[in-house]
Amino acid sequence: MNMDVLVSLSKRRGFVFQSSEIYGGTGSCWDYGPLGVELKSNIKRVWWRDFVQSRADMVGIDASILMHPTVWKASGHLDHFTDPMVDCRECKHRFRSDHVDALPWVHYCPATKGNKFTIPAGEPCGHCGQRRTLCPECGKGELTAPRQFNLMFKTFMGPVEEDASVTYLRPETAQAMFVNFDNVLQSMRLKLPFGIAQAGRSFRNEITPGNFIFRTREFEQMEIEYFVNPNDRVDGRPADEYWHDRWIEDCMAWFRRYGLTAGNLRLREHEKDELAHYAKRTVDIEYKFPIGWSELMGIANRTDFDLKQHSKWSGKSLTYFDDERKEHVVPYVVEPAAGVDRALLAFMADAYREEEVRGDKRVVLKFHPELAPLKVAVLPLLKKRDDIVRAAHTIRADLAKHWRVVYDDTAAIGRLYRRQDEVGTPYCVTVDVQTVGDSERGETGDSRVTIRERDSMEQIRVPIAELTAIFRELLDGAAWSQVSARYPAPRG
Ligand code: ATP
Repeated sequence: MNMDVLVSLSKRRGFVFQSSEIYGGTGSCWDYGPLGVELKSNIKRVWWRDFVQSRADMVGIDASILMHPTVWKASGHLDHFTDPMVDCRECKHRFRSDHVDALPWVHYCPATKGNKFTIPAGEPCGHCGQRRTLCPECGKGELTAPRQFNLMFKTFMGPVEEDASVTYLRPETAQAMFVNFDNVLQSMRLKLPFGIAQAGRSFRNEITPGNFIFRTREFEQMEIEYFVNPNDRVDGRPADEYWHDRWIEDCMAWFRRYGLTAGNLRLREHEKDELAHYAKRTVDIEYKFPIGWSELMGIANRTDFDLKQHSKWSGKSLTYFDDERKEHVVPYVVEPAAGVDRALLAFMADAYREEEVRGDKRVVLKFHPELAPLKVAVLPLLKKRDDIVRAAHTIRADLAKHWRVVYDDTAAIGRLYRRQDEVGTPYCVTVDVQTVGDSERGETGDSRVTIRERDSMEQIRVPIAELTAIFRELLDGAAWSQVSARYPAPRG
């Protein structure tokens, strides 16, 4: 599957738009449209429900994006949160030096009188055999030696733009959990092990953003800091190692539960020389994105590095009193860190299918019902019949008390079904003549409507009065076959 297909579907159907598009767009910022905002908030909602609300060992916070600048000194971001950058001396294009070899490159081939070719990443020229040495973008300029570039966005707090008022937009949400460790511990009277979660915006001045919403300069993260007592053992293993494995399993299971195909997911263990300076072990969950296998989330064992650093720089003790051993300990922390936008991209890519139905192509997003931006679409079979339209509006309003439900009468029924398939709406409800009857002929309606299921395209005829109960059952996870077995198929 091609990324362009998703970009174009996203724009056409209101999932994601280029930011400030009418002004030519801003570099690597994207806006979520009416369906995108629903999808994104559903992802965050189920994550929060599954990892915070339903667990006795988890609590949440929502911290401010601007933090005390010393936070970034203590965390190491001011000194180490850098990427190596190279510039083209000719066209001034800027690259991350560790990404240059992964780009297709422009080549003026001496063996063909200087003809211009674009050669796939990492391959030599088929005519002269040369490999890339110059700028991949213009094919002419030399690249500078790599320089370290700090990825944090700098700004000023207050009216005076001077060194003393410099602050940063947070490049990750994690640090707020460390600096609030004691506040949360004391106010909630927690016992180890416990975790603090947060979902919110982060900002990184990425050198080479791109690939749609995969790498952007403003994005959202869902992060957990799970604190454990390093002196405890679980199942005969150090507690931090045990919990690290548990979180890896739980996160993998979570992505599969909401629809990612097992074969599109894999774990990647960080090599020793690639580990961040604070990490004892890091494992990435990778997804087979349209651009190839790439990081979806990372799960790191950060040891006691962060709490110790903040304790050192703030002068405040950030310890936990171990009642059993009668001693203060600095907890170790396991950090499952996921990107909301990357998760959304993965869920969309995995849900996308092109199918052939009776000789026609149908595009369908097979979203898990909990993630689907719209749960139900109510469609009148004849938009000229007032009584049908009225009944459809009433049904929509009733269902919309519980879920995101839309009404649409702007095309014939076949087109309307296809439109809902394309945005992943799991159920359509159709109101027809049989529902309302025909008063001129003295025929009363049966007060039943047709429900059509997105994936099987099967239909059942159900009483209007039972709609809310049926959708509650289906959207709570009941299989379609379990519900459809109780109702007849529509006539004709
Ligand atoms: P990468 O290696 O792709 O730059 P990272 O290892 O720096 O990512 P982390 O610091 O571990 O990323 O952040 C946790 C998660 O936040 C990532 O797995 C990803 O899902 C998300 N994320 C990080 N940077 C970006 C970005 N620029 N745009 C979108 N999502 C991001």
